[in-house]
Amino acid sequence: MPLGPREELEHFRDLGVRDVFLVPRAAAGDQPALAAGSMPDLGALVRFVDGCRRCKLASSRTQIVFGQGNPNADLMFVGEAPGRDEDEQGLAFVGRAGQLLTKIIEAIGMTRDDVFICNVLRCRPPNNRNPEPDEVASCRPFLEETIRLVAPRAIVTLGTFAAQALLETDEPIGRLRGRWREARGVRVMPTFHPAFLLRSPERKKDVWEDMKIVRDFLAGK
Ligand code: URA
Repeated sequence: MPLGPREELEHFRDLGVRDVFLVPRAAAGDQPALAAGSMPDLGALVRFVDGCRRCKLASSRTQIVFGQGNPNADLMFVGEAPGRDEDEQGLAFVGRAGQLLTKIIEAIGMTRDDVFICNVLRCRPPNNRNPEPDEVASCRPFLEETIRLVAPRAIVTLGTFAAQALLETDEPIGRLRGRWREARGVRVMPTFHPAFLLRSPERKKDVWEDMKIVRDFLAGK
């Protein structure tokens, strides 16, 4: 486990260090903005995002969760933001909701390695609170560049937040789900978030209906 600032100072005190000089971290403004279309590939984008301090989540996250999967996937899933498990492991959708997402992917005859999975935010909001508008604005260029580079044939958004953020709408998920929309020239199918399905399993059949539409589209039907 990484040491907190207090433990780190105590560690150096115990080693006999008496003076500490503080150098301010790069302020958000010191980090370059991402120019749309400027990254040659996902690896370059991951390196660009590495160490990001463009929003306040940088000070509470454990690590950046960029997203993972097939860099040339036909299908991309976009969730809200990393939770505790994701923040600890550095991977998107690895907790209980992620296990259900795995089943959803397998139900349409694919595996997690076939698809690309990421979130609107790359850092965990403290105590899983809702993402704030300035955080979404800071992270949006990374999501848009990821979509451009992966160039999926379809995107499935998971839950209210991802659908509303990607489609730039405030329509409720109950009205958005189940019909194709479009964002950045890509078909978008909004559906319920797997964490919601864990609380409301009776809505799984709706997600199955949505995923059948996605499966048929990818199969050229
Ligand atoms: N919920 C999300 O929206 N994303 C994750 O990566 C995990 C849980």
